[in-house]
Amino acid sequence: MSYVTGDEPAASGCFLCDAAGEADPERLLVVERAERTVTLLNRFPYSSGHVMVAPRRHSDDLAGLSAEEGVALLAATARAISAISEVMQPGGFNVGFNLGRAAGASVDHLHLHVVPRWGGDTNFMPVLADVKVLPEHLEVTARRLREALAGQAG
Ligand SMILES: [Zn+2]
Repeated sequence: MSYVTGDEPAASGCFLCDAAGEADPERLLVVERAERTVTLLNRFPYSSGHVMVAPRRHSDDLAGLSAEEGVALLAATARAISAISEVMQPGGFNVGFNLGRAAGASVDHLHLHVVPRWGGDTNFMPVLADVKVLPEHLEVTARRLREALAGQAG
């Protein structure tokens, strides 16, 4: 359980570049690698099914994304939302960027957070307090989302 024992350092120095690369998708909780994007479960989730969608190219500059990357990012986000909806039936989603360290970005590689929400889950803290039970759940959730995404045109 890498979460409990401490994560291995990212091979490339950026865990999103690792996820976008060819390394083991299961260990990295990758649920989809598309031509221009990678989608993976957040190891420190705000809620069950919390994924991050990133361009495969390392950049922290939203304005510097190409039009193709922007479209691909939004399309991958829509696919993730469809897959999470199919697998987990949330009541809604929060979707957004944290741009810059002051805004909570933990890595200098752009990514969108997709956070499924259920009625009554308004406080993140009970979810975070329960995080120690999540490693197996994360792998099961990743597998289910990977299967749901594989069923969509990518
Ligand atoms: Zn990166």
